[in-house]
Amino acid sequence: PAAPVTHFIRQIVAADLAAGKHQRIVTRFPPEPNGYLHIGHAKSIVLNFGLAEDFGGQCNLRFDDTNPLKESPEFVASIQADVRWLGFHWGERVFFASDYFEQLYAFALELIDQRLAYVCDLSAEDTRAYRGTLTEPGRDSPYRERSVAENRALFERMRAGEFDDGSRTLRARIDMASPNINLRDPVLYRIKRGVIHHQTGNAWCLYPTYDFTHPLSDALEGVTHSLCTLEFEDHRPLYDWCIEHVSVPTKPRQIEFSRLNLEYAVMSKRILTRLVEEGLVAGWDDPRMPTIAGLRRRGYTPESIRDFCQRIGVTKSDNLVEMGMLESAIRDHLDASAPRAMVVLRPLKVVLENWPAERVESLEAARHPKDGSMGTRAIPFGRELWIDREDFSENPPKGFKRLVPGGEVRLRNAYVIRCEEIIHDPDGTPVELRASVDLDTLGCNPQGRKVKGVIHWVAAQSAVTAEVRLYDRLFSTPSPGAGGRDMVADLNPASLSVLTGCQAEASLGAAQPGERFQFEREGYFAVDDDSQADCLVFNRTVTLRDTWGK
Ligand code: ATP
Ligand code: MG
Ligand code: MG
Repeated sequence: PAAPVTHFIRQIVAADLAAGKHQRIVTRFPPEPNGYLHIGHAKSIVLNFGLAEDFGGQCNLRFDDTNPLKESPEFVASIQADVRWLGFHWGERVFFASDYFEQLYAFALELIDQRLAYVCDLSAEDTRAYRGTLTEPGRDSPYRERSVAENRALFERMRAGEFDDGSRTLRARIDMASPNINLRDPVLYRIKRGVIHHQTGNAWCLYPTYDFTHPLSDALEGVTHSLCTLEFEDHRPLYDWCIEHVSVPTKPRQIEFSRLNLEYAVMSKRILTRLVEEGLVAGWDDPRMPTIAGLRRRGYTPESIRDFCQRIGVTKSDNLVEMGMLESAIRDHLDASAPRAMVVLRPLKVVLENWPAERVESLEAARHPKDGSMGTRAIPFGRELWIDREDFSENPPKGFKRLVPGGEVRLRNAYVIRCEEIIHDPDGTPVELRASVDLDTLGCNPQGRKVKGVIHWVAAQSAVTAEVRLYDRLFSTPSPGAGGRDMVADLNPASLSVLTGCQAEASLGAAQPGERFQFEREGYFAVDDDSQADCLVFNRTVTLRDTWGK
């Protein structure tokens, strides 16, 4: 493998290690289990797990599970499966922020004892109103000067479930006039009664906020470098404030990088959840989704996703990555690794009039043109063949190099044929071609004439029927929802087309879900989970060439 691409976070880590600041680095990937992972998460996974691998450190998988209402065990399981599928390993166990609820509660009491936190009775609406704006300072809550004893007693009663949701919060006592709104006495705890948490059940009716939980969980795990996206830059002073004022064992450092934004895709779990819940896609693993599960089903390999994450790099500048970048990563991997096969997507029958009806010849073709170690496959050849409708033209446009009336074409891996006659249906559509085959052209050029076109084909007798699902971009604009539009209005109505009755070469008969192929001249395809022995189902992963912007 090539030397790891360097970037500013890698440089910080290397310098910290060189200076002896840490003996060993610890990073973490902290998803909230409220949805499936998407390609943006992959950027964070590759960064965090990749650093740990490269520097001989450790990366924790920690579920940031402080909003029980939107979280579920299904998401906890899918996230672990996706991280593993990407090829990364965490230590002996996964972590949950909820593992620390008791410890976090003790930390909150420490803040109360130092008069650095207080129980506030303002409603959510009043809390917002008192907070001020970017240009105006906030106002102190009327509850800000409560005594330590009163705060302790109220906080304990909050925990005991004595108060209604929304009636009280615990807030940090920092500075209502701070230019950084995140430091204007941020909320540390909220009451949520009657909620069953997927890990802690009904043990708690008090839940810590992200801003309180995150730095302290990092510190409890000995995280050295806590990497997050740029939106959290303004939260860093609060992150540092939390670890400064309670007795944590270690002091992690937060470093921000820009999130991945991908053209024609959305990465917000809120929107992805909506697509799933409203049935606008077939599920989290719909091959059009930018989720890891969707990309896997589409035919992406873990290698290609990791490679893409290396290619986009890690910086602090926001940008929109072209879909072509993701596609070239999978195209490059599949070009090198996918066996070749012939599949006719829009079949048109060809009958070879000078080939005996009962004669079947077994031809041989390489599974991969550049990798002999993949061996060969047998492709039967017979009197009746399928070719693609688009490879025949009765009134060919200028420069058309495929089959035309009276013209010749080479059948890939086989013979040259000539179209002798066209049989039409009553509306004049060609339904069958009668052709002749030149028996002297197997593996060599015909005598005295040049045949330019090469088309793929499948022998009818041994062909396997398949359904092929072609995918286009899920959204029809590069930045869905730009200008405040509803993103759903930007969905591409033609993002899925299903072709049935496709004809695949016999060697594909045993293809299993997850297997990937190059269909010669068509693109890269993966066997879908819906595939059955008597009707194969393939997803088009990507076309052979970049068609974005064409
Ligand atoms: P959403 O806002 O859609 O809910 P999130 O960022 O809150 O997404 P988390 O599950 O909290 O989702 O994310 C886990 C980790 O993945 C975080 O550290 C976050 O920074 C990172 N992450 C999420 N989206 C992206 C992205 N588009 N690019 C890079 N990192 C991302
Ligand atoms: Mg979130
Ligand atoms: Mg989050």
